[in-house]
Amino acid sequence: MGKVTGFLEFGRSERPYRPIGERVRHWQEFVVPLGDEATRKQAARCMDCGIPFCHNGCPVNNQIPDWNDLVYRDDWREALVNLHSTNNFPEFTGRICPAPCEEACVLNINDDPVTIKTIECAIVDKGFEEGWVLPQPAAARTAKRVAVVGSGPAGMAAAQQLARAGHDVVLMEKEDRIGGLLRYGIPDFKMEKHLIDQRMEQMAAEGVTFRTGAHVGVNVDVEELLAAHDAVVLAGGAEAPRDLAGTPGRDLDGIHFAMDFLPQQNRINAGDPAPADRIDATGRKLVVIGGGDTGSDCIGTSTRQGAERIVQLEIFDEPEENPDLSLVWPYWPRRLRISSSQKEGSEQRYEIETMAFLGDAAGRVRALAPRRG
Ligand code: SF4
Repeated sequence: MGKVTGFLEFGRSERPYRPIGERVRHWQEFVVPLGDEATRKQAARCMDCGIPFCHNGCPVNNQIPDWNDLVYRDDWREALVNLHSTNNFPEFTGRICPAPCEEACVLNINDDPVTIKTIECAIVDKGFEEGWVLPQPAAARTAKRVAVVGSGPAGMAAAQQLARAGHDVVLMEKEDRIGGLLRYGIPDFKMEKHLIDQRMEQMAAEGVTFRTGAHVGVNVDVEELLAAHDAVVLAGGAEAPRDLAGTPGRDLDGIHFAMDFLPQQNRINAGDPAPADRIDATGRKLVVIGGGDTGSDCIGTSTRQGAERIVQLEIFDEPEENPDLSLVWPYWPRRLRISSSQKEGSEQRYEIETMAFLGDAAGRVRALAPRRG
């Protein structure tokens, strides 16, 4: 434990965001790092709990108190080694993970939790800045061939670990760029895509080969894939949308799934031409159905495109901002969370179910029929 009284001396301090009026005019990230010294103070708040609930709250079991201590002691490089021992890509999670570790933090019971996600991101960003993130090629090759199908974070991590174990790994992706939902589902303003590219450079140096446009079962024969490899890892994503099938008017023009909308903008940001069927919120009044992170991503993207008005519908009731944690801690509580995108200019409506979509004479959606409660 770095500073025994750190949690008594220092309050929680989070990374600020750039002003709304500025950030909605571009597609870059807008979270401002705290800087080394302020981050070390935040790390000093960690109590190095006998039972670190943060560790179990973290889906990859990051050894959080260990690297908090290392950051407090200014040993960032060792903190990076420790962080990488459980997490191949902390620069992704340090940006887009919802941080269940912080809800599970013991300090969260009667104080503000440690800014774990901020510290994680600072460690790995510093690692890249300092040139500490280097390829780790295997000392010996096994001559085993492994295909990893799906290049989202799970597929990338599997490919990297397998390559470091000495196997010949090909990472296969059906789209035209590696990264899965990281590449095309997460808006650039939440995670810039050069972060994927710099990891790909490391992985290529470790022996991973990348194959895009390879849709197994469509343009890649399954039997041939199995015959050519000693093992195949299936790391496909979860792209099936939740439809409102059967809702009257569902087939009207102007009703889109998030994953038809969001990738288009990321592709345009990457330099691709706008598709002929571009979904463009510029000047539109729109409704986002769904109150979760995907809905927020649609709001942030629509705001930057220049939507006139955005209303978001959530089927559940409005949760409390400060639920009784004695009933749920260390688990993920249902609480009111207003995302950065929601704050940029949108209205939220709770307990709303969509009963029907109403169209105009041209077959385009113009309204929906809601039901409260
Ligand atoms: S639960 Fe919180 S205070 Fe305890 S070790 Fe984890 S981060 Fe530190």
